[in-house]
Amino acid sequence: MIVFNLSCNNSHTFEGWFASLEVFQAQAAGGQVTCPHCNSAIIEKLPAGPHIRRSLPEKAADAVVDKHADEIKLRNIMEELLRNSENVGARFPEEARKIHYSEIPPRGIHGTASAAEVLSLLEDDIAVFPLPRVLRNDIH
Ligand SMILES: [Zn+2]
Repeated sequence: MIVFNLSCNNSHTFEGWFASLEVFQAQAAGGQVTCPHCNSAIIEKLPAGPHIRRSLPEKAADAVVDKHADEIKLRNIMEELLRNSENVGARFPEEARKIHYSEIPPRGIHGTASAAEVLSLLEDDIAVFPLPRVLRNDIH
């Protein structure tokens, strides 16, 4: 089925569903397509423009779905990382430092740190990165 945007000779616009363009043309030529507003059988097919404009909100909805899918993907990756690393909680800055200076064997850790602690770690060239907001509630 194809949906066409149609217009009658009284400038009413409406949608018509047809099996194909040929079916529409045949039905329109035979006067079988009539305007639902005024019953006029003088119908023309509008260019695709109005239909594209009409479908913009659906595209926006797609974008929201895509963004959501990205968040799920990111969340999965981060959850995998979290599963494979130890939650050291508030000891995170201390543990990260020990690992960085090879005082303890390296391992993946995650936990919490204040902004000042993170800054201090970064100043010492210790690689830390923030978790996406969606995961922060999971690690306390
Ligand atoms: Zn009409």
